[in-house]
Amino acid sequence: MDLIDVQEIRVPATRSDISVGPSEKILAGGTWLFSVLETGLTGLIDITRLGWPPVTRTDSALVIAATCTVAELSRLTPPALRTDPVRAGRGLESHSDPLALFWQCANSFLASFKIWNVATVGGNIALALPAGPMISLAASLDAEAVIWMPGGGERRMPVAELVTGVMKTALMPGEVLREVVIPLTSLESRTGFRRIALNDLGRTGTLVIARRTATGETVFTVTGGTSHPVQLRFAQPPTAALLRDGVSAIDCWYDDAHGSSDWRRAMSGRFAEQLRQELA
Ligand SMILES: Cc1cc2nc3c(=O)[nH]c(=O)nc-3n(C[C@H](O)[C@H](O)[C@H](O)COP(=O)(O)OP(=O)(O)OC[C@H]3O[C@@H](n4cnc5c(N)ncnc54)[C@H](O)[C@@H]3O)c2cc1C
Repeated sequence: MDLIDVQEIRVPATRSDISVGPSEKILAGGTWLFSVLETGLTGLIDITRLGWPPVTRTDSALVIAATCTVAELSRLTPPALRTDPVRAGRGLESHSDPLALFWQCANSFLASFKIWNVATVGGNIALALPAGPMISLAASLDAEAVIWMPGGGERRMPVAELVTGVMKTALMPGEVLREVVIPLTSLESRTGFRRIALNDLGRTGTLVIARRTATGETVFTVTGGTSHPVQLRFAQPPTAALLRDGVSAIDCWYDDAHGSSDWRRAMSGRFAEQLRQELA
């Protein structure tokens, strides 16, 4: 751990105990925080002891607590749909059941199951790496982020809009991501998934999820290849040309050691078209 200036780790028991000072950060699983050098960080607020149930269901939504671990989330996929991790993480087995996405997205981490046991859904979203598979999952299902504001009150926004860039979010200082709310209607859609990395267990180069509702609305969510989630939304299944135009208009392709922007754009277009045909 290279957090050499940390003086204090506070463990709130209730919401009113949570206060995040200007040189402090929320601590969830710590799989990122404890892996990087960060000078000037004086305090951590560990939110993992607040006792939030990892997953709850309401009449209209599946609610995933920010502290839900990736391991807990992966178990939302019924065992019969939990296929070989490498193939699942590439989307090589196609499932129209959206519950398969939880397993596929968990397997889209560069990280192994050991990290899954502590890494949280909220930590992944708040970190806002392009290759954040919990961002891919939540954005593709039109999930809403519930954000606790400092001093009380909460606000909500789509996860797809919460992540605004590479390690950039719309979270304001002192705000805490409390949960993500997935509408049950999203889980009634048919979905398709594709992902590629430069090697089998590598960091995501691009990840495309397509979702089609009973009324024909079709949403393509591109993450990993872009610096923030991009959604292409069509009231009816698009033609190949319309979809191609939509992908061509994306202007935030990411470029790093895990893939060039040209390659990410080409693979995203190819995957989107495959998924369009698959959901037709
Ligand atoms: C081997 C390895 C492989 C990895 N592979 C990937 C990968 O493929 N893709 C990827 O995206 N990441 C990857 N990571 C990084 C990291 O493990 C994950 O992003 C993980 O999901 C972070 O969750 P956490 O709970 O451990 O977050 P933490 O490390 O606890 O926190 C991460 C950041 O989010 C903030 N934060 C956490 N929870 C909240 C909250 N509820 N509200 C507001 N802010 C919050 C923290 O202050 C911190 O800035 C990898 C890490 C390792 C060690």
